[in-house]
Amino acid sequence: MNRLRTDTVNIVPLLCDLSEASDEVFRESELEFGCHSGLQLLADLGVIEPGPRPETVVCNACDADHPAVIEFDAERRCYFHFCPEAGTVTLENADLVTHRFRPEWLADWLMRALPITSPLGRTGLVQGCVWHLGDAACGDTQVTVIFARRVSSQAALDLLVSALRPVHPVDKGLVVTTSPHFARQVQLPNGFEFLDLRDIGRWVEGKLIVDRRNLYSRLQGLQGCSPPPKRPMRAVLKDRKEPSRLDWREADKPLIAEMHTMILHGDARNPTDAARALARRASGNGQQASKVTRLAAAYIKAYPSN
Ligand SMILES: [Zn+2]
Repeated sequence: MNRLRTDTVNIVPLLCDLSEASDEVFRESELEFGCHSGLQLLADLGVIEPGPRPETVVCNACDADHPAVIEFDAERRCYFHFCPEAGTVTLENADLVTHRFRPEWLADWLMRALPITSPLGRTGLVQGCVWHLGDAACGDTQVTVIFARRVSSQAALDLLVSALRPVHPVDKGLVVTTSPHFARQVQLPNGFEFLDLRDIGRWVEGKLIVDRRNLYSRLQGLQGCSPPPKRPMRAVLKDRKEPSRLDWREADKPLIAEMHTMILHGDARNPTDAARALARRASGNGQQASKVTRLAAAYIKAYPSN
């Protein structure tokens, strides 16, 4: 199957780009030049399958980039389109063939590659975009894994946040994503953290694998979500040695109340929105972004049902 030298194929970025594209059906001509071998490998794996024959094509015989209906010339046995400037334009095979990306393949591959140890199978949380995969054992840590794609926009992030709210990670929670521009300062519920698939996906000797060393080191960097359940409550409280943060908690209270009013009145769509509007009035010398995170997190703690 591995007909190509691996260094000539950038499979993981291509996979992530296809996962994030606005349409699952695409033509090879829409991709950057040089993706042909990568597409062939993805087709061999089952990541992409043949899509429907397109009805229209964008003309490249003139400079107008106009769409044109694809027609069949029965005499010449070929497909063509008509351009007002160039006349009849015969179409190449690449214009007539489409591929369909299969996001479920990616979710199932993650389950096999991590691997997920819980037997329940994946559950869709947001249709076509977010799946709860289950738990994976990484050393002594049980990691609850979500796969999310197309979560770059604020609206998609809001959907992800509400989908995660009822999901409680065993030890740590990871949202593996193909979205490159997810807002890293967004506080996900229940201690979930984003992990870019590009950081752990590797194409090695004709196989798509998870780079476990990178996965482990990323997990070690995480803050951890909930306190270990067996620990007595008093010890947990004693471990919190951050008086400054406690001070902010008192000082932030009026702002949190104001955020609540904003959200109730529809002046802000969500805690992050409200926090952005008020962050410049928050105490402390920190960055605006960290104040936004602090306020949004405090709000979610104070009003968990919202
Ligand atoms: Zn034209």
